[in-house]
Amino acid sequence: MAEDDCIFCKIVAGELPAERVAEDDHTVSFLDINPWTRGHALVIPRGHSKNLYEIPDDDLARTVRAAKGLASLMRDRLGADGVNLLNSCEPAAWQTVFHFHVHVIPRYEDDPLRLPGQPITLGEGELAEVAAELRE
Ligand code: AMP
Ligand code: ZN
Repeated sequence: MAEDDCIFCKIVAGELPAERVAEDDHTVSFLDINPWTRGHALVIPRGHSKNLYEIPDDDLARTVRAAKGLASLMRDRLGADGVNLLNSCEPAAWQTVFHFHVHVIPRYEDDPLRLPGQPITLGEGELAEVAAELRE
């Protein structure tokens, strides 16, 4: 079901332009308008889901399967040396467009991307504590 004011629903409907690179009955893949590397693409389910918390399992599986196909295309057609998959869920995790999407980012040995994360310092027993919280 399309959601009013969702730019990705509008891309699915053909109401907004996009450089589509692949599609099937359940997903559409198109180039990110602000690419981090040459060929950076987004895969989205045709049906609107806000993010990882809300997407139905079957749409998630289809989206990730399409991302896998795109990764192989990037290797074979663009000469990518590797690929990153990225999904951001909620603004705290950098989500800016609220229609679920997976970034498929082809990587090249000499590209300018760097990991944004730095390891945090953990106190005594903190690793075991958080593991226990998640297990319960
Ligand atoms: P995120 O920040 O993970 O929610 O990713 C949203 C991505 O959508 C960003 O990388 C934007 O560059 C991209 N984006 C926003 N509008 C468009 C558009 N009209 N066509 C293609 N990509 C877009
Ligand atoms: Zn949408």
